[in-house]
Amino acid sequence: MSSEAVDISSLSFEGLNAFITSLGEKPFRAKQLYRWLHQRGAVSFDEMTDLSKDFRAKLKTVARIVTLEKDLEQRSIDGTIKYRFKTHDGKMIESVYMPSPERKTLCVSTQVGCAMGCRFCATATLGLMRHLTPAEIVAQVHAVNREVRANEKIEKTLRPLTNLVFMGMGEPLHNFENLKVALGTLEHEDGPNFSSRHITVSTVGLVPMIERFGAETDVKLAISLNASNDEVRDVIMPVNKKWKIADLMDACRKFPLKQGRRITFEYVLMNGVNDTDDDAHRLAKLVQDVPAKVNLIQYNENPGLGFHTTVDNRAERFRDILDRAGVAAFIRANRGRDISAACGQLANTEKEPTFVPLGAKRSPTADP
Ligand code: SF4
Repeated sequence: MSSEAVDISSLSFEGLNAFITSLGEKPFRAKQLYRWLHQRGAVSFDEMTDLSKDFRAKLKTVARIVTLEKDLEQRSIDGTIKYRFKTHDGKMIESVYMPSPERKTLCVSTQVGCAMGCRFCATATLGLMRHLTPAEIVAQVHAVNREVRANEKIEKTLRPLTNLVFMGMGEPLHNFENLKVALGTLEHEDGPNFSSRHITVSTVGLVPMIERFGAETDVKLAISLNASNDEVRDVIMPVNKKWKIADLMDACRKFPLKQGRRITFEYVLMNGVNDTDDDAHRLAKLVQDVPAKVNLIQYNENPGLGFHTTVDNRAERFRDILDRAGVAAFIRANRGRDISAACGQLANTEKEPTFVPLGAKRSPTADP
């Protein structure tokens, strides 16, 4: 294989067609290859037994398949499994498998580290190392499908994962071009064929990108809100200094929602930071004219970050205030807390999280 070999697992269906045609092959070969890559999750050309030997030999010289190496697996008592994967250049990313009786969900990463600098988040302490390619985003899904099939004795031809949430390491809309190609692959009928209803992308609120996301994709939107006023959000989520809550809510009101869908607002409750009755009343007002549901998540503490979880009865009180204001609000179960796989806890051990005292300035490593 030459060093110029094309990363064919990062190509869209159309891109693969163009590539295969440029090799002088018939377009149906592209469809066969795409199915091997993204329906069956093949990791080598040798597996593709219905492609001719000559074609496979040619592919080996001009193309490469991107795979992820499983580096670590941690199992929670609640059934959640956190996988740490190593990329071809030695970077570590994490994906979290969350099975329940109704669905098998994977939380997917889109970047190595993150540039957004949210003060309560372990991933933020890594800074942004690089964007993941479309292949690396999709490969997490293929790799975990393989793991689940093996662990749960599921037939080889089936896709066990039912739902995907883009809430892992990174800000998905900061890596929008690659995310878009990956979503196209994940939803493709000759690929894993996920329904758009079963894919949710979460953003901290890159306002101009929300508009593009709505225009160019068809999956569900979640907003990681976490504060009811700019004063607090400016401190805990630096992105808010650029786009205020009013800008964000305006983008949400304009978001082209499909029939029956709502925008999910994630609100991580942190003791004494954003969990007062006044916060709940303000939050209810903010979302009142948006088809919305609010997911309340009790903060998962990260040593050194200086934030603490809200207490149980406070979360219930907060939910009840939203409820009485007519806002659909749910307290979400914390999955994988014991293995640091819960929301805001993903930080691979390649680089130790850096302690930044509360009140100190944490600068994002790239301008969002
Ligand atoms: S919460 Fe999400 S966007 Fe914010 S720093 Fe963590 S990974 Fe990045």
